[in-house]
Amino acid sequence: MAKQEMPKIVYRFGAGVYLNITNRCPNLCTFCIKTKWKMDFHGNNLNLQGNEPTAAEVVAALEEELKKAPFQEVVFCGYGEPTMRLEVLLFVAQTLKGWRAQAKYPPFKIRLNTNGLGNLINHKDIVPELRRVVDVVNISLNAENETVWRSIVCPEKGFENGYEAVRAFIRACAAAGFEKVVASCVDQTAADAKAVQKIAEADGAQFYLRSFLDAQN
Ligand code: SF4
Repeated sequence: MAKQEMPKIVYRFGAGVYLNITNRCPNLCTFCIKTKWKMDFHGNNLNLQGNEPTAAEVVAALEEELKKAPFQEVVFCGYGEPTMRLEVLLFVAQTLKGWRAQAKYPPFKIRLNTNGLGNLINHKDIVPELRRVVDVVNISLNAENETVWRSIVCPEKGFENGYEAVRAFIRACAAAGFEKVVASCVDQTAADAKAVQKIAEADGAQFYLRSFLDAQN
């Protein structure tokens, strides 16, 4: 990554357009590539250096990017937890929904990749607000119990008991009627992927085993 390269708010990966709205996260996952890859993601500098974009800046960057090439989904992801900036997330997703209703672009999905701690972060149930503007939710479950979860995601103070909150978030999303709710686990970690799959499915989500190197959120 060239040092002078400007940080990306919007970047592409596969058929998706990804949004990098914060670098903050209450976890420090053992598999998180933001440190290992020095805040670079396939040639995109995602280091916001504390300068988090406003909702208007995100929308402007999106408009610039979306006209360049086809895309199938817009994903809130980046090198941080998007629900740390709930208001920006909701505003941008609502804007995207409006564009979709106007058929400004070919049909696309709106996806949130999250660590599942959004209710704890925001001190309220954020699922109803998300449900209004997001189609697909991908939640990092990561473990079959709280002890393993803590050893893998290394939560900061105040989030040590977050495992049950993540499971409750998965169940609430499954009940809320999103188009798709996915709960994931990363391979090559201390987690028992088969046991995690059972829990994910019991909580109403589809299971996804993510590759260690691709792990991002
Ligand atoms: S992988 Fe995601 S949840 Fe884990 S520390 Fe990195 S940004 Fe946070």
